[in-house]
Amino acid sequence: MDWTPDILAELRALLGDDGVLDSGAARFAYEADALTLERGLPDVVVLPRSTDEVAALVRWAHASGVPVTPRGAGTGLAGGATPHRGGMLLVTSRMDQVLALDPERMFAWVQPGLVNARLSELAAPHGLHFAPDPSSQPVSTIGGNVAANAGGPHCLKHGVTANHVLGLVVVLHDGSVVTLGGEAPDAPDAELASVLAGSEGTLGILCEICVRLVPRPEAVHTMSVDFARIEDACRAVSAVIAAGIVPAAMELMDRRTMELVEAWLHLGLPLDAAAALIVEVDGPAVSLPAQVERITAITREHGARSVRVASDAAERAALWRGRKSSFGAYGRTGLAFTQMDGTVPRSRLAEVVSAVYALAEARGLAAGTLMHAGDGNLHPHILFDPDDEEQHRAALEVSQEILRVCIRLGGTISGEHGIGLEKIPMMGEIYAPADLETMSRLRRAFDPGGLLNPGKILPGGPPPTHARAAAQPGNTDARNDPEGPWK
Ligand SMILES: Cc1cc2nc3c(=O)[nH]c(=O)nc-3n(C[C@H](O)[C@H](O)[C@H](O)COP(=O)(O)OP(=O)(O)OC[C@H]3O[C@@H](n4cnc5c(N)ncnc54)[C@H](O)[C@@H]3O)c2cc1C
Repeated sequence: MDWTPDILAELRALLGDDGVLDSGAARFAYEADALTLERGLPDVVVLPRSTDEVAALVRWAHASGVPVTPRGAGTGLAGGATPHRGGMLLVTSRMDQVLALDPERMFAWVQPGLVNARLSELAAPHGLHFAPDPSSQPVSTIGGNVAANAGGPHCLKHGVTANHVLGLVVVLHDGSVVTLGGEAPDAPDAELASVLAGSEGTLGILCEICVRLVPRPEAVHTMSVDFARIEDACRAVSAVIAAGIVPAAMELMDRRTMELVEAWLHLGLPLDAAAALIVEVDGPAVSLPAQVERITAITREHGARSVRVASDAAERAALWRGRKSSFGAYGRTGLAFTQMDGTVPRSRLAEVVSAVYALAEARGLAAGTLMHAGDGNLHPHILFDPDDEEQHRAALEVSQEILRVCIRLGGTISGEHGIGLEKIPMMGEIYAPADLETMSRLRRAFDPGGLLNPGKILPGGPPPTHARAAAQPGNTDARNDPEGPWK
């Protein structure tokens, strides 16, 4: 595609000067999401404000044969918003309005670029909130949450993002606009809104989203429980749920994670413990003390050393701040790391966690983990020196091996972050060719030309461009050059 001045002028006429970014520096800022191991420069970045503008852009891209990659806040951890085939990166950050909020019927229509936490702030005066709470919620967008089907600490009890989507207005591959689902809880369509949730921008651009709002719980109790052995903590999680209690959240941090968070935030985390759980129960105030008592008893039976219930909102906030800052705490090490998103049945958490440490240690690498333990969803981090080729390769191999352990234990390769670019090589390990072909046929039905977020989720295209390979001397791919061919 030759991006002539006339084409750029046409796009600017539609979006205004500040709605089209084409300088090398601006494009460079959008070359990756939070999985920085995968990179790719967009040819142009566009920032529409409305469904009509998105429709016009996609119509134009369809006619011109230009790939379109949608992006919200770019906090995705699987490379889903990385424009590795160039083309147009369609960023929704200026589509950040609440279009309607109906407190009685408990829904809101929002634009996709609205930040998750902002919706709950706006719903709070009505006693409502948006329940899905990825740890990225102060930054990540509702559109990105729906497209990735994000989870979060409280999704254990309240369900993942897809469970909170009622309706969608979507721009399809040719620029046509359709409405799927609606405001009623059980719209009489073919459940197509559910198909779009989790499709990572490959089936259409989500432009207006009707989400369910739910009442804020009357009361909340948050507990911190620590253990001398991480395997005991894992077994305690399984035992609590097996006893018929469904806490709002059950999160685990291991010692390395606590050390990194503590060095940063000084929260008084129990650094002599092998692991700590945050267990939260919510609901009618009268129902909670009995649940806290039962959870205390079960965790003690499984080796808990101490159980503390946060005495006030400040203590509760500090516990959550520690957990939700874990990812950033790894970033502060100055080392590179891989982060996995495997799941296993809760009852197998202890086995997988032992495997994580053993596999990393065998390759001389440091590992730490945090988990949405109640969901059996673990995020091991394998640390490595980015300048050491051998360590880097070893970290990637250990990561793949960990995911294979998850598969062998009856789990899978992604609990919430999606497939993006990162996990394409492993799709063939969990799905048969016929399964993948069925997914591919669905995709072709929505996007026959393959221009919507091409090369994501399904195997078959050229292999993902690894950042390291891109940095090899002699790699002359213009897409890896921030100044690019035309700036
Ligand atoms: C510190 C940190 C903590 C995190 N914690 C969690 C967590 O607890 N749970 C969790 O699930 N994830 C978590 N994540 C991952 C990430 O925040 C989520 O996947 C989130 O949903 C991405 O939202 P985003 O707005 O950043 O989307 P992006 O990263 O911009 O995009 C994500 C995907 O959605 C597509 N997309 C974006 N907008 C649209 C649209 N309008 N139409 C169609 N497709 C679109 C993109 O193409 C991409 O495939 C975390 C990430 C970080 C950095």
